[in-house]
Amino acid sequence: MQENFNTRAIHGHKVDKTLCDPLVTPIYQTSTFVFENAAHGAKLFAGEQDGFFYTRIDNPNSRELAMCIADLENAEAGVCFSSGMGAVTAVIWSFLSSGAQLIADKTLYGCTFELFEQGLPQYGVQVDFTDLADPASLEKLLSPKTKMIYLETPANPNLKLIDIAAVAKAAHDYNPEILIVVDNTFATPYLQRPIDLGADIVLHSTTKYLNGHGDVIAGAVVGRQELIADVQTKGLRYFNGAVLGPFEAWLIRRGIKTLPLRMDRHCSSAMKVAEFLENHPKIKVVYFPGLKSHPQHDLATRQMSQYGAMMAFELNATKEESEKFINSCKLCRLAVSLGDCETLIQHPASMTHSTYGPEELADAGISESLIRLSVGLEAPEDVIADLEQALNQI
Ligand SMILES: *Cc1c(COP(=O)(O)O)cnc(C)c1O
Repeated sequence: MQENFNTRAIHGHKVDKTLCDPLVTPIYQTSTFVFENAAHGAKLFAGEQDGFFYTRIDNPNSRELAMCIADLENAEAGVCFSSGMGAVTAVIWSFLSSGAQLIADKTLYGCTFELFEQGLPQYGVQVDFTDLADPASLEKLLSPKTKMIYLETPANPNLKLIDIAAVAKAAHDYNPEILIVVDNTFATPYLQRPIDLGADIVLHSTTKYLNGHGDVIAGAVVGRQELIADVQTKGLRYFNGAVLGPFEAWLIRRGIKTLPLRMDRHCSSAMKVAEFLENHPKIKVVYFPGLKSHPQHDLATRQMSQYGAMMAFELNATKEESEKFINSCKLCRLAVSLGDCETLIQHPASMTHSTYGPEELADAGISESLIRLSVGLEAPEDVIADLEQALNQI
């Protein structure tokens, strides 16, 4: 029987799966997956059989990416999200409830800070901010209500470091059930693996180095199987639905293939840029873990295999001159985000960290005149020449 044109436009024409074995996983750009029969569908829904049935629940591209990131982080399992903030909120909502206490470092990505400071108290979660670089301040805050400790290292935007092993030990000695959550966006698993140091959960804005090409917004969470099962079923499936699209997952999977090559180059270039800035008379201070002048240089050497490519600095200049400097950069693009091939420069107090009030900025050690630089993959001498010509403008 010849079906109607309208029907033929929709059904059929599938290539036989036995005819090819693609080197790279194709993009499964599909919202749903066809069941073999009703019993098969029921088993998939009941979790009695593994398989894909709806892309919000799971999709081959996001599963492959999640397994890849989990593997690189030495974690058992992982799950992907449509943004880093999707990853953060899924972790928070999966494990914290009214009456629980969250202890967080005070230097955080601006939107994470806003979620913790403004969002969570709305739901009855007690949030205590502290300086986790000082172990005594953590011990003072630990209580029977402590459910989670949250930190970034190196922290956005001022490159403060936290000793992950020391925080995990202090918390787990107090109560082994406390979840240590580390945002590893700045370091990537190529430079630092928090799970090996005692963390329970690692999360990423994969928008940044893991994708590496500035063309995707995405996030990921990795950890022990039972924790990730909770993040996937509650956090992603019911709470925020921040599911990663198959194409974005495919792009990030592709990006990760060159992560080691990119990171080696990012790191070596950043070291040259940091040394240039540190020796320039118009620069007041440079915050880069690779410099001996960084107060936590020894911790960086112990905890990371290289020092990353993020740095922050202040000029010996007025606010207006600092602004003129940023505006004079040409090769270094004036934009937020980080970890891209392009060198990016921005002003945290008025941009990524504008969620912090003036006192909160001071308390978190984020100077109002701080400038953040994400050193890209251009020739380092060209990045330096651009910074130099911009410094000459003031
Ligand atoms: C960018 C960033 C986030 C947020 O990720 P999005 O992908 O923008 O949602 C979280 N943490 C850190 C450290 C970041 O740099």
